[in-house]
Amino acid sequence: MNRKRLNIIKILVFSSITLFFVSLFFVPNTWALDLSRKKKSTERKLYITVTKKDRCPVCGMFVHPYQKWITQIQFKDGSHHSFDGMKCMCRLYIDPGKYDSTKKKRDIKLVLVRDYYTLKFIRHDTAFYVVGSDVFGPMGHELIPFDSQKNAGTFLIDHNGLKILRFNQINPELLDKLDKAKKTVNLE
Ligand SMILES: [Zn+2]
Repeated sequence: MNRKRLNIIKILVFSSITLFFVSLFFVPNTWALDLSRKKKSTERKLYITVTKKDRCPVCGMFVHPYQKWITQIQFKDGSHHSFDGMKCMCRLYIDPGKYDSTKKKRDIKLVLVRDYYTLKFIRHDTAFYVVGSDVFGPMGHELIPFDSQKNAGTFLIDHNGLKILRFNQINPELLDKLDKAKKTVNLE
């Protein structure tokens, strides 16, 4: 093997090693950027903004002071209703026409509730709801949303909750019981 050929091989080996390390440095960064971008876009979508003028269409209260309890129903036409808690939101969800004659159930696009611990906005049908606890919302007894069954379980133990429910188990009878109850709820 002559010297010239050896030099070419050396250059080739050196450049592939360099390329390998350079790619190691750049590729994971690109992935990380992509992932964070994806994460951000989902988070942006699952977000509720309310103005000081927004009132709950069910009880008439201003929503703004109760950020921690805010829930929202977004409609396909781009409009939305914000609520001061779960109960009011469920009332409109179950019978939209009763509170807004322009809306039907099939017009609903997205329903957001707020995880009690993290304050993250989550879809209503992914949440776990604790009822009968000693934590009260602006309208008394509430269904308190969590993004995991584990967190709902911890809260239930810490705050003397009675049950963990999924969204499809919420009905007008339960909402009436929660509304009427004073200090403790009887769910039997
Ligand atoms: Zn309300």
